[in-house]
Amino acid sequence: MRRVGLTGGIGSGKSTVSAMLADLGAHVIDADAIAREVVAPGTEGLAALVEAFGPDILAADASLNRAALADKVFADEAARERLNAITHPRIAARTADLLRNIPDDAVFVHDVPLLVEVGLQDAYDMVLVVDAPDEVRVQRLLERGLDEPDARARIAAQATREQRLAVADVVLDNSGSLDDLKKQVERAWTTIVGDE
Ligand code: ADP
Repeated sequence: MRRVGLTGGIGSGKSTVSAMLADLGAHVIDADAIAREVVAPGTEGLAALVEAFGPDILAADASLNRAALADKVFADEAARERLNAITHPRIAARTADLLRNIPDDAVFVHDVPLLVEVGLQDAYDMVLVVDAPDEVRVQRLLERGLDEPDARARIAAQATREQRLAVADVVLDNSGSLDDLKKQVERAWTTIVGDE
C-alpha cells in the first residue's frame, strides 16, 4: 500500500484536494472526522472526557462543547496531556480499523490538518502539501463565513507555510483556479500510482 500524507493550513484547499484524490481512486481517511467520531454523543470516548473534565464540557444536547473543553485545557499542559491520553489512542485504534479495510494495492491518503504540527511526516511514503498565500487563505475563509480576526487567528495558531513546505515531497500550489489545482492533483496522482 502506498501511504500518502495530505496536509495544508486552514483555507489552503486541503479538503478540496482530498475530494479530488478520492475521485481519482484514493482511499482517504479523514483524521478530523475520526477525531470527532471518537467523542461523538454516546461514545465511550466522550464518557471518558466527562469523567476527566466534568459534565460542563457537554452542550445541552449531550454533544461535546468544544469551546468549553478548549477553555479547560488552554494554558494547562497537564490537562492537555490528559485530553490527548484519552483521544489519541482511540483515534489510533479507529484509524487502524479503517486501514485494515484498505486493499494492499491501493493508495491510502491520510488527510491530516495538523500533520506537521504533530510531526507525522515520517509515517508516509510521500507528503503532499496544499499551499496558498495567507491572504488568499483569509479570503477563502471569509467566503466560507468566518470573520477576519477569527480567520487570521486560526492561521496564526497553525504551522507556518515554511514549516509545511519543509516536509513536502510534493507541493500543490492552490493560489490559482480550481481547474489549475485539479491539473496539479492529477499530475501528483500519476506520480503516486507510478511510484510502485
Ligand atoms: P481547507 O480544507 O484547507 O480548509 P477547503 O478545501 O475547504 O480548505 O477550501 C476553503 C474554501 O476555499 C472552500 O470554500 C473551497 O471551495 C474554496 N476553494 C478552494 N480552492 C479554491 C480555488 N482554487 N479557487 C477558489 N476557491 C477555492
